[in-house]
Amino acid sequence: MKPTHIEHIGIAVKNLDDAIAYYEKVLGLTCYAVEEVKDQKVKTAFFKVGQTKLELLESTDPEGPIGKFIEKKGEGIHHIAFAVEGLAEKLELIAERGIQLIDKTPRKGAEGLNIGFLHPKSTFGVLTELCENPNK
Ligand code: ZN
Repeated sequence: MKPTHIEHIGIAVKNLDDAIAYYEKVLGLTCYAVEEVKDQKVKTAFFKVGQTKLELLESTDPEGPIGKFIEKKGEGIHHIAFAVEGLAEKLELIAERGIQLIDKTPRKGAEGLNIGFLHPKSTFGVLTELCENPNK
């Protein structure tokens, strides 16, 4: 099962432009991509820190997952994403261990990655994403 690295950390923000300005001007990182993921009702902005990325998430709809998250918990860390190989089989193995999955099979995420989420009820409160780069 072992992930190869932390692919990214997802951070929910109210205003993407304000958050990008903070990461660029205060932390000195460079936003290299902004992408809307329509089925997740979010706009994302990406930064690289070594091989790990930061994924800022702004909701485009208060009823979307990030909109609801911010309403309940406020801004902050939303999920951790691990890079894995063989995502489909890994999701099956995890389900066999009784872990509750949000995605039973891989779907498309930002940056062309295949992704699947595990439910935080089964992961000690951390919304956990597994991602696989299909072009690797
Ligand atoms: Zn993510």
